[in-house]
Amino acid sequence: MQTALADFIRDTPEGREADAILRKCVHCGFCTATCPTYLLLGDENDGPRGRIYLMKQALEGQEITDKTRLHLDRCLTCRACETTCPSGVQYGRLLDIGRKLVEEKTARPAWERVKRRALAAVLPHRSLFALLLALGRVARPVLPASIAEKVPASTPEAGAWPAPRHARKMLALAGCVQPALAPDINAAAARVFDRIGISLIEAKGAGCCGALRFHIGYQEEGLADMRALIDRWWPMIERGGVEAIVMTASGCGVMVKEYAHLLRHDRAYAGKAEKISAMTRDLSEVIDAEYARLEPLPAKKGGRIAFHPPCTLQHGQDIKGLTERVLARAGFELTPVPDSHLCCGSAGTYSILQPELSGQLKRNKLSALASGAPEEILTANIGCLAHLQSGTERPVRHWIAALEERLN
Ligand code: SF4
Ligand code: SF4
Repeated sequence: MQTALADFIRDTPEGREADAILRKCVHCGFCTATCPTYLLLGDENDGPRGRIYLMKQALEGQEITDKTRLHLDRCLTCRACETTCPSGVQYGRLLDIGRKLVEEKTARPAWERVKRRALAAVLPHRSLFALLLALGRVARPVLPASIAEKVPASTPEAGAWPAPRHARKMLALAGCVQPALAPDINAAAARVFDRIGISLIEAKGAGCCGALRFHIGYQEEGLADMRALIDRWWPMIERGGVEAIVMTASGCGVMVKEYAHLLRHDRAYAGKAEKISAMTRDLSEVIDAEYARLEPLPAKKGGRIAFHPPCTLQHGQDIKGLTERVLARAGFELTPVPDSHLCCGSAGTYSILQPELSGQLKRNKLSALASGAPEEILTANIGCLAHLQSGTERPVRHWIAALEERLN
């Protein structure tokens, strides 16, 4: 694609990056076939090719309108288009640049600004989110159904966290909303790792990975969250003998793996960010590599399950089939799930900011997951887990909790 970027951005790092990405796009349209919003709305501007064209126009200095912002807002950042594209167009990176520009050049209505500001203020703060969740539970009977369904009735018990006793150590991220919604996830991972011969530890005071604020229009605040997390982790990496950073939420995993890129121009943090991204692993990568240490498993078969691979795992981190392989080796019967490449509609704060589209995607996903009549649904990201659970009576859990149960 030929480009002529406007003077205000052409010679900036972002302008050069956007230009290189745009030039790779040959406008073939293969990506539209796997775009969830295009499949729902059938509008070229709600598909990747149309959005790329809108961002190109914005970067070339043409007027940026509320319509431009609307089509970018409707994008889930699922990156299904990226793993479909034969030309290697890094749509996600272009979207970060495009969204920042659109945010700067347009004015959102006041109510939208308040909503986004509130989400950016509350969600990354663990204790504030836990407090609001507790209040939400009390008020659940009187809340409108659309809000009440987002408040889970109970929180699973975490169980004991094994004391560190192994020479091998890995670092886990507690995250921001996960400890309040599902404290059993990291605790189960720590117990499984303990069996393998690895002590899983968390850094005190480590907060949000930065994804939440970065993706809703507060990129600088998101970058500040990233730096703060690096500061918490760094002493444990430098002196603590930690061999890897393990992500139990694929949404955080994809973000931390991108620290190297996002902080590459920050002299104080570029080196640390590069090291941290390089040593970050999704939970499935570690368990798959160490699987032999978990055997032999009980002879009894595991349950019948449907696995939902989050977009941040299969598209963002390009990890496909690994968790499914672990679960199959552990004796679970995996039911077939049609269109497993499509997003469930959770997508960070998307379910709050775009409730209609998100709701439709959730219903479609739950019907695909239920088509093989599984006993339960397993996934790998807290956002997808909570989102899917809000629409079904069938249990939805993190796969590590199911694996641990099977080991016991
Ligand atoms: S598949 Fe890739 S090259 Fe083709 S239109 Fe989509 S982004 Fe462009
Ligand atoms: S990131 Fe997802 S929703 Fe956005 S354009 Fe790509 S496929 Fe469509």
